[in-house]
Amino acid sequence: MSILLVEDDQDLATGLLEALRKEGLSINHVGTAKAALHVIGTETPEIVILDLGLPDKDGLDVLRQLRRQHRDLPVLVLTARDSLGDKVAGLDSGADDYLAKPFEMAELLARLRVLGRRMGTSSSNVISVGAVNLDTTSQTVTVNGEPADLPRREYMLLKVLMENAGRVQTRDSLENKLYSWGEEVASNALEVHIHHLRKKLGSDFIATVRGVGYTVKEA
Ligand code: CA
Repeated sequence: MSILLVEDDQDLATGLLEALRKEGLSINHVGTAKAALHVIGTETPEIVILDLGLPDKDGLDVLRQLRRQHRDLPVLVLTARDSLGDKVAGLDSGADDYLAKPFEMAELLARLRVLGRRMGTSSSNVISVGAVNLDTTSQTVTVNGEPADLPRREYMLLKVLMENAGRVQTRDSLENKLYSWGEEVASNALEVHIHHLRKKLGSDFIATVRGVGYTVKEA
């Protein structure tokens, strides 16, 4: 899940980046409305966490503007203004969820999980392809009913591939979903994760599409 954090409070942003990366989430950060709209227009994230009090523009204007192009992009609004009026205005402008500052990190993580689930192609919390079941609530995987032990990044990679079963995922799009900007990534990191997944799931579960990327065939 790739997240864009739009927050001008540098201390809060630093704390959030650290906490969410620790959870294995790929998160990038900008501090202005202008930068946010630029990023969303060029490499659209999967979830946006949007502060409403930005230095160059009201966050609600950012929200309205991004909604014109991205009707379904999940947006979690963060704001210190916790009055009911602002809440309603925020949701009316197209926010999917709302969190008033200060908030607990656990609460933010729970809201992100809900948004992440809503994003998936299936409404169920379990995605099944062939002998492999992936439960997005417990974040566990079973193969022929036996639990498979997947580290966080392998789980995330498998989730993207299974949610998009039948479609080819390019290397670039997979890397964008797994890693944050500026994160040191070995050039063969993706291959290494795929190699480990194949050992655990069977060698033909994930197919290589030469020169393009990877795919999981629909069951
Ligand atoms: Ca702010």
